[in-house]
Amino acid sequence: MFDQTIDPIDSCGCGDTGYLTTRTVPIDLAHGVGRIDKVPVYHCRSTDCQEFTLPPLVSRRLEDIAEEMEKVQSTEAVYTWESHQTQSPEPLQRTNDQIHLQAFTLQFGGREYADAHVVLIVPGQAIFFQSALEDTEYYLLLYEANTRIEGIWFSFLKFYYEEPEFTYEDFLEWSEDGHLKELGRIPLDEVEDTLIGEFGEC
Ligand SMILES: [Zn+2]
Repeated sequence: MFDQTIDPIDSCGCGDTGYLTTRTVPIDLAHGVGRIDKVPVYHCRSTDCQEFTLPPLVSRRLEDIAEEMEKVQSTEAVYTWESHQTQSPEPLQRTNDQIHLQAFTLQFGGREYADAHVVLIVPGQAIFFQSALEDTEYYLLLYEANTRIEGIWFSFLKFYYEEPEFTYEDFLEWSEDGHLKELGRIPLDEVEDTLIGEFGEC
C-alpha cells in the first residue's frame, strides 16, 4: 500500500521528544554548501532549540537529492520522496503535488481531537488515527494516487485492530486481507472539516 514510512515522534537533537515537522537543512555538496527546503525532521517545538534529527529514510533520500544537485550543479532544492527523473506525463505538477501533500500530512503530527489522536503519519501518503473511546478502533486517511478526478483526494477508512500496539509493518501485512471499511472520499480542502466533524475539535 505504501513505499515509505516514518514514525510521527522520535527524539529532537537536544534529547527532548521530537515531533515531525519540516525545515530547511544545509547540505555539503562537491561544489559547495547547498540547502534543501521542506525536509522532514524531528524537532522539540521549542523556539530556542536549533537542534533537530533526521528520520533514517530521510537521511538516505537526502543523499540521493545531493547527488542530483551535484549532477545539475545546483545549490538549492526542495525535498521530495521521488526522484525528478520519475516518468510522468506532468513531472512538475506531480512534484508540486508531492511537496504539497508531504507538508499537508506532516502538519498532523501529534494532533489530538476530542475522540481520536494521530498515531502514525506516512508523509505524503497517509495519516492513522486511534479512537479515544475504543482502543481497537482506528481510522486511516489515505491519499488516492489514481483518481481520474482533478485535485488531491483521500479515502477515509475505518478498521478494528486488536493487537496491543499499532505498528506499521504489522498493519501492512494485516491489511492485505481487506479489513478496511471505506467511509468516504474527501478532497484535500475538506479534510480538516471532516476530521473535526468525525472526531470533535482538537
Ligand atoms: Zn530540541
